Amino acid sequence: MTVHEQYELLEKTIRGYNPSADFAQIRAAFAFAEKAHDGQTRKSGEPYIIHPLAVAQIVAEELKLDSESIEAALLHDVIEDTPASHADISKLFSPTIASLVEGVSKLTRIQYATKEDEQMENLRKMLIAMSKDIRVILIKVADRLHNMRTMEYQSPAKQKQKSLETMEIYAPISHRLGMQRIKWELEDLSLKYLDPIGYQEIVSNLDSKRQEYDFFMRRTQEQIDERLDQLDIPHIVYGRIKHPYSIYRKMFNQNKSLDEIFDLFAFRVIVDTVGDCYNVLGVIHDIFKPILGRFKDYIGTPKPNGYQSLHTTVMGGDGIPFEVQIRTREMHEIAEYGVAAHWKYKQGGQGSGSEGRYEWVRRLLENQEGADAEDFIHSLKVDMFSDEVFVFTPNGDVQNLPAGATPIDFAYAIHSAVGNRMVGAKVNGRIVPFEHVLKNGDIVEIMTSKNAKGPGRDWMKIARSSEARSKIRQWFKKEKRDENIVNGRSAFEAELKHCGIPMKDVTAPENLPGLLKKISYGTLDELYAAIGYGGFTAQKAVSRMQSELQRIAKQHQVEKQVLEAVEAKIEEAPKAPPAPKAVKSEQGIIVEGLDNCLVKFSKCCTPVPGDEIVGFITRGYGVSVHRADCPNASLERRTAPDQADRWIKVSWGSDTNESYPTTLEVVCKDRQGLLLDISAALSTTNTFVLGINSRSTEDDFAIFRLEVRMRDSQQLSTLMNRLHQISGVLKVVRPAG
Ligand code: MN
Repeated sequence: MTVHEQYELLEKTIRGYNPSADFAQIRAAFAFAEKAHDGQTRKSGEPYIIHPLAVAQIVAEELKLDSESIEAALLHDVIEDTPASHADISKLFSPTIASLVEGVSKLTRIQYATKEDEQMENLRKMLIAMSKDIRVILIKVADRLHNMRTMEYQSPAKQKQKSLETMEIYAPISHRLGMQRIKWELEDLSLKYLDPIGYQEIVSNLDSKRQEYDFFMRRTQEQIDERLDQLDIPHIVYGRIKHPYSIYRKMFNQNKSLDEIFDLFAFRVIVDTVGDCYNVLGVIHDIFKPILGRFKDYIGTPKPNGYQSLHTTVMGGDGIPFEVQIRTREMHEIAEYGVAAHWKYKQGGQGSGSEGRYEWVRRLLENQEGADAEDFIHSLKVDMFSDEVFVFTPNGDVQNLPAGATPIDFAYAIHSAVGNRMVGAKVNGRIVPFEHVLKNGDIVEIMTSKNAKGPGRDWMKIARSSEARSKIRQWFKKEKRDENIVNGRSAFEAELKHCGIPMKDVTAPENLPGLLKKISYGTLDELYAAIGYGGFTAQKAVSRMQSELQRIAKQHQVEKQVLEAVEAKIEEAPKAPPAPKAVKSEQGIIVEGLDNCLVKFSKCCTPVPGDEIVGFITRGYGVSVHRADCPNASLERRTAPDQADRWIKVSWGSDTNESYPTTLEVVCKDRQGLLLDISAALSTTNTFVLGINSRSTEDDFAIFRLEVRMRDSQQLSTLMNRLHQISGVLKVVRPAG
């Protein structure tokens, strides 16, 4: 076929699906490309124009794209390979076509070495992200398909490299965009170069059984055709054999021979309506025996990439199982051409102006379910709605950064040491300021120096990624402690002032430890340092301290009340004799000059009514009552300068409780039956016993500790006398102190 004939075929193909295409412009694009590539040849020896023409043919035949896409396909290599410029194309054709061509050229410039999976995924994302217009990636895929179809002329090394790239980048992208036919062809072509022996084995195996398979396919197709005709269901039915790469993968993964592959054959029935899809399913299940668990309704639940169809596997004649896919014409087009088909439909509908360029893709994807779908939606959103940016290191590694990222983010993404030593940055070979915003595909180089003074304080504002920010914060935390303390202290003091808290409240020795504990810092300097490097805020510190100060204040309220009341009484005393007033007691205790004051009985001496007692004003727990003879209430203590004003007079009221817990110690010469006698004494005196503890000493003494409840000191002394009378008892004492 001459170049001219091939061009005529292209026009004919376009006319077949888009009669109103702009043929004058398409012809002009062809003429421009032919002239620009004049004198260039392909490896096959053919004139170079054959390639763009073939790419345009794929874009028309396989993807049925619009005039602009055809023109861009014809021109796709002129910027890269000829003197023609973006401006030329923009002027001669249109800015849109120029940017499509520019987009394809950019993708062509990217070099992909084989990387680990994650890098591959980033590369795929980046390619889609760089294709601001989805048509760019569609044309690029067509370009790759033609290059793979003509790969035989390349060197074996180049064949392997391109095939690997196709298998890892372009086939998955085609799958994502729902272009099954192209995906299969790309996979088969890649396999042919990646594992020539494996590929050949499958192909020759299929060839050797061709007759047998053809007969089976023809007969099965006739069976289906016949029944559907009888039922008057308009349809197209055809069969296919699984494509070689998919057989290869099954044989390889499941270690099966060709004969053991379940769904080697597939038939496709294309009908007019969704209703007919289910009708046909019923018919198929009537003619052939369905295999359980193999029915899938992708019409009710479409696949993530928009694929819709009914799938079932049935048993044919001779016990050969095969798959049947049933779908409408529209579902079929979407299955075969994917996003391209949607694009076509969208174009036909003209759409409302408010709808964003990718809105239809997004809506298509958002209706899907499942983890895979979520993944796909996420990646497409990320890519097409750009909240990520993909850039290269000088070695060609891809770094994935949030949109708006700067060289600072890039440097810290490489390593914190690179960030901390950064003195400058180059993007695509040119020096840029630190706040320069990175774009997809940029090659970023960081200049470092051992003498770098480290990140500036403004870097926190320039960095976009949380990773960079936290690494910068780390640096300030470690390297600039003194400076941080000064800065942190002034921020803290300003906040205190703002909240009306005097500094001395914070530094007061009785408050500080509790306050620091509340915010989990050991010292004020540590707190200042943290505020200084941004690890903690002055606002948080002050607000937590404020609530702690309030709590302390509340706790001290009782104590304050007590002290104030005592002082007031002392001042009042000389003026007038106290007015007689009803004396109220708390638990039978009258605290001099105070009503309703919290009272507790000291554990050391357990006083009972009748005992001479004194009171001690505790910190926060009201008045503690001791026996006057308790060592803890000794004269020495009562007159100590720091405590003297805390000791106050207390006395028993007339309304004492029924009983009070108190403790006795009985020291005896040990003998048999002693405990029995003590028990008898307790019982005959009607003593309420809370507990008895006894221990023997090495020198044959026994000490009993009795916890009892007593009405008053009189009852207590009766009991003590009674115990004393027991033979062997040496001492009965009330322990104190
Ligand atoms: Mn090309």
